[in-house]
Amino acid sequence: MVDLDLPDYGINESFCIGDVHKLDGEAWECCLRGQLRSAVQRLEERHGLTVTAAFEHEFHYSGAEEQPGLGYALRALRRMGGFPDRLMEVLERAGLTPDTFMPEYGPGQAEVTIAPAGALRAADEAVILREVTRAVARGLDARASFAPMVDPAGVGNGVHVHFSLHDLEGNTVNHDPGGPQGVSDTAGAFVAGILKHMPALVAMTASSVPSYLRLTPHRWSAAFNNFGLQDREAGVRICPVFSERPDRDAPGKLHFEYRAADGAASPYLMLAALINAGLDGLDEKMPVPTVTQSDLTTWDDAALAENNIVRLPNRLSAALDYLQESQWAKAAFGDTLVDAFLRHKRCEVEIMDGLTEEEICNRYVAAY
Ligand code: GLU
Ligand code: MG
Repeated sequence: MVDLDLPDYGINESFCIGDVHKLDGEAWECCLRGQLRSAVQRLEERHGLTVTAAFEHEFHYSGAEEQPGLGYALRALRRMGGFPDRLMEVLERAGLTPDTFMPEYGPGQAEVTIAPAGALRAADEAVILREVTRAVARGLDARASFAPMVDPAGVGNGVHVHFSLHDLEGNTVNHDPGGPQGVSDTAGAFVAGILKHMPALVAMTASSVPSYLRLTPHRWSAAFNNFGLQDREAGVRICPVFSERPDRDAPGKLHFEYRAADGAASPYLMLAALINAGLDGLDEKMPVPTVTQSDLTTWDDAALAENNIVRLPNRLSAALDYLQESQWAKAAFGDTLVDAFLRHKRCEVEIMDGLTEEEICNRYVAAY
């Protein structure tokens, strides 16, 4: 339950989050939170593992006078006035542990991160964070938009999902000093499952028409299903951590970041898709994927194929085709959810048909 009564900030609202059940009390297959709950249970039962996640959200704030070229600068932060401080305060009041706020690269673009939590709580917090950010902006007569692209020629708003695997005692199992870049067989198998199913699962993590304007090379997002070392353009990246200072516990902090996600997708479905795909990797004992360290647009087809790397679908309808053909998705989520998802998303594609990229971006800015 989130209960915010902050008249000075123009915020007075309460909302709660829960599962949707059928009238007979059974879990409803189309409840996305319930889908995540079952994925978490399966991972625990089959492999004795849990996932901890932290969401990094990028968004556009309309209340700052936009000026190109100020990316990351103090001047960009200053232009946002009281919004950043107020946002961090209200997030805390909503029960979250905000970590960082910063101006992002694009004009009016910002990023906010919250502390890691267990998968279900992390997804709840992502939902709360989006609503609180919108409420705080509204209290300042402005808008916060999590649309994946605000302008077809501009910078995308990503949602980067940091994740880590733990045993049931809470110890991380990501690291093995003998593994490639220190990645353990367990974590490698989990990531391999994600990469294998990425052409289909991206429909659930980047599930809007403009999402695919963002998922193109050289935009710091993701265009391939690769496992990159500290690379902002990797599908999944091994995150940079401090290694110089032993007190920073670099092996303990080793974790991964899924980058092909955005704010037009449900955080529950995102994490459920990642866990269900990771489970397949664990069940099949998939090997640690090749760790890439260069620009994949310079690789030829043979090199990509040799390393099981493919270009991600270049439009939503193509991702939906992969999802429709995916036996993994049907087994993991059930036919009902996959069918309902495909119907809704195909309808969304149809509505956007014939609009210019700019018109499409505008529609999503209005909606998200
Ligand atoms: N804005 C980029 C994206 O669309 C990410 C920039 C960053 O790495 O923070 O994902
Ligand atoms: Mg960022």
